[in-house]
Formats: sequence, C-alpha cells, structure tokens
Amino acid sequence: MSTDKADSIVIRQADFSESSRVVTLFSKEFGKLAVLAKGAKRLKGPFDAALDLLSECRIVFIRKSSGALGILTQAQLVRRFSPVPNSLNSLYGGYYVADLLCCLTEDFDPDPELYDLSVKTLARLSDPKSDYNSVIVQFEVGVLCRLGLFPNLECCSVCGDPIATTAKFAHWVSQGGLLCSECRRDEYVGKSISGGSIAVLRRLADADSPLTDRIKITKEQTAECHKLAVSAITNVLGRKPGTLRFLQF
Ligand SMILES: [Zn+2]
Repeated sequence: MSTDKADSIVIRQADFSESSRVVTLFSKEFGKLAVLAKGAKRLKGPFDAALDLLSECRIVFIRKSSGALGILTQAQLVRRFSPVPNSLNSLYGGYYVADLLCCLTEDFDPDPELYDLSVKTLARLSDPKSDYNSVIVQFEVGVLCRLGLFPNLECCSVCGDPIATTAKFAHWVSQGGLLCSECRRDEYVGKSISGGSIAVLRRLADADSPLTDRIKITKEQTAECHKLAVSAITNVLGRKPGTLRFLQF
C-alpha cells in the first residue's frame, strides 16, 4: 500500500453507497484509475467541487495492490469545466472527451501528452470564441494518434500506392483505411472523403506541426473528418461511443 499524487481529470462518477462514490480519473502520471471517494456525496463532503465531472484536480490516493479499488484521500480543484451557455457542443463535447478517455484508454497506462491534450481541449471547449466542432475533431484525431489507432491515410489499403490529396475524392472503408480508385470495388462498404479533408486530417495527425491551433477547417471538412474519426473509433470499440448521439455536426 502506498500513497501517490497525481494531476487528473474526473471522467466518470458512479454511486457506491449512500455517502460514497467511485470516481474514475484520467491522470497525467498514472493514466486512467478508479478510486473510492468516501463521503463524496455529502453536501459538505471532504472533496467539495473537485470531483465534479470534467473538473481538473490534484489528487492524493492510496493505491491498493492486486487491482483493488484505491482510496481517494485528497482532491484539490485546479479548474472547473465551464461549458459556454446555450452551446450544446461546448457541453457535450466535454462529455464526449470523458467518454473517449474512459473507453479507449487502459488503467494505469499513462500518456502525459494525451493528458495535456485533454486539458487543452476542455479549455478550448470552455472558450466562447472556439469552433467547438473543429476542437472535437482535433481531439478525436489526437486521441487516435496517441493510442496508435489513427488509420493510414498515406497509401491505399489494398495496393499500397500513395493517395494524392489532389484527387477530388478517395474512398474509405469501415476498417479505417483508404482505397485508391483502382482498388475501389462496389462490394466494399465505405464512403467517400474529399482530398481536402484527407489533407486536413494529415495535418492534424502531424504532432510536430506547430500550426495545429490555427488550422482553419471548413464546416464540410469538419463533418467529413469527424465521420472518418468516428468510424475508426467505432471499429476499435465494436460500438459507437455513447455520448456521440448528443453531438451536432
Ligand atoms: Zn489501390
């Protein structure tokens, strides 16, 4: 048994007893972890607003061996998630971030860059000046890239020939790869994506590109990129993320 400290985001809460909750956090130091927060449901509980969904907080917890639930001993609020009033994708974009972190990451598998991306995404979803749909797409691409799940958009999945973004359209299949026009067959279930959207996705996926914050994406490209990202996520999970239905694209 040992005590650990971590910077974290609250990504799920579940009632445990009349006064306690099980809180799932995505932490910078340890990745996803679930802890028992005793007294968290009391009005003047020991953790106050630090454990609200999507709050960023600094925690101290007792880690149990052999996969047993850890015990939360301290939680200090760093920043509350404050979605922009009357903007549904600002609010639901936040829930979607929590959902993806919950279902795509493994317990105690830390990824500090994904943590930083998540904090930044929640800040941008709280900013009235943001284009929320573009922020959501950038997070989808970021999380897929960090977890090694981003589809190969450079080459045809069948013949391996490079896919040019100068072509008006390419086709993609539900497994997430692209097909060149030579390899495209009617029996493949898939959709078309414009060369412009492929170029946007390649730029978003380039972690070294310092321009990510400033990439301008048209509404149509945002919707196309979102569709492809959702297809890749659905392929990994075997189902659509539950919070997806609240988003409007
Ligand atoms: Zn091909």
